Order: sequence, then structure tokens, then C-alpha cells
Amino acid sequence: MYLADYHMHSACSTDGHYSMSRMAEAAVARGLDEICFTDHLDTIYWDDYSPRTDFDWAESARQIGEAREKWGDRLTIRLGAELGEAAVSFDRAEKLLADAPELDFIIGSVHLMGQRHDHQDLYYIPKADQSYYNDVIGDYLDDVLALARWGKFQVLGHLTLPVRYIWDNAGVKMDFSAHMNAVEEIFRVIIPKGVGIECNTNRGAIPLPDETILRLYRSLGGEIITIGSDAHSPDYVGCRSRETQELLKSCGFRYITTFTKGKPEFRPL
Ligand SMILES: [Zn+2]
Ligand SMILES: [Zn+2]
Repeated sequence: MYLADYHMHSACSTDGHYSMSRMAEAAVARGLDEICFTDHLDTIYWDDYSPRTDFDWAESARQIGEAREKWGDRLTIRLGAELGEAAVSFDRAEKLLADAPELDFIIGSVHLMGQRHDHQDLYYIPKADQSYYNDVIGDYLDDVLALARWGKFQVLGHLTLPVRYIWDNAGVKMDFSAHMNAVEEIFRVIIPKGVGIECNTNRGAIPLPDETILRLYRSLGGEIITIGSDAHSPDYVGCRSRETQELLKSCGFRYITTFTKGKPEFRPL
């Protein structure tokens, strides 16, 4: 079993606190074969939503150099990015990517409610009723569809992210069952482009997306899929890697995907 964690954050992310070397050490301890750092590369600042086009690539290069120096003989260490909120400004997203070094892998992620909710951060979603949550999910998926059509990344990140924050903030279990047509439309946009999805292991909770959506993606011909822990600390590096591979196998997938300079490699499950 080839174990690859393709979504993790280091101190180069606004919400990260651990060096790449410390995260790589945890990956070696868990027996992973490959990791990819996907620090947040955002078109907005989180505190006031103002435009953002900067990222400290020099610090990123320093940290990944140190991690490869210490752990590179036991672990393949890739450099990627989690490109956030491209749909707010595709121009800024393109500037962020143009200023980046050549990356192995890019996750396209939406962390905000859509336009109809003024792009408020899902992280702060309030306690409310199901109809409000379904309205937010629909609005969020409009942005994901716009992102999918733009398509300048390798996988869509944590497709069902609102489910995580509705649970965290309100203790309410939601799913995307009322939105499967929108999800299918997104898959019909990305699959012919050679863009995939990730299965985000969500710190051990229900994966994002869940089994129903993974099966839908596979049934529509989707093959490109990465597994990512979204770890912001060493504790979660490689979280549920093995179990998630079993889940994917049971959904009809034959491979997980890793990337070198944006080119997919298929690793048999
Ligand atoms: Zn994310
Ligand atoms: Zn992330």
C-alpha cells in the first residue's frame, strides 16, 4: 500500500504552527511514502476579506529545504498549495500562481459561503435551521462550480466542507443529499478537464466528500483522487490513510493519485 498524504499545512500557513520538518518527521514515523505541503495561498486576507496577492515563498523554500535535508532519504516531499477563494477573483488567483515557484500540486478550495451570503467564512457558520444550511450549501456550490469551470488546479479540495463547520458549530449532521444535481454538474465539468477531487480525511470524522459522493464521482468516470489529512499539526499527519484507501477501493477506485509538477501518477490501491 503506497501511503501519500496530499493535504497538509506548515507554519507557512496563517493557521499553521509547525515547521515542514516537524510535519515530515511525523509522516516518517507513521510509515508514509510521500507527502505534499499545501499551505494556504489565498486571494483574500481572512480577517477583513481584503485582497491578497502575497505569499512568503522564500520561507517556504527554506523550510522545505530543511525538511528534505533531514527526511528526504525516507520520504518523498512535494511542494504544492491550497489555493483558496479563487472564485472571488480569478485574476488574483492567476497572479498568486504566476508568482509561485513551479508547484507539484494545487488544491482548489472554497472556504466561504457564496456571493448571496457576501462570501462570509463558513468557519463561522451560525446555528440555524436546515433550510438555512441548504441555502448556504447551494450558494457555496455555485462558487465551487465557477472554480471548476476555471479549472487551473489538480483537485477540488474538501468538496463537502460546509458539513464540517455545521457539525463543529451547531452539532447538526448535514449532508449534500439535496444538492446532488449540483454536485453531478461539477463532476461533469472537472472530469473531462483531467481535474480530480480529494478525499479529505477530516481529522477522522466523516470524510469530505462522503461515500455517496465518492461513488457518484467514480460512476461518472472520475479517476483522479488524492487522499489528504488537512493536518495543521503532527498529530493528524497521515490520519486514516489506510482506512481511506479501503473505502476508495470499495467505491470502485483502483488508484490514488500523486503528482509531480502537476502530472498525475497512479498508485494502485
Ligand atoms: Zn481547506
Ligand atoms: Zn487545508
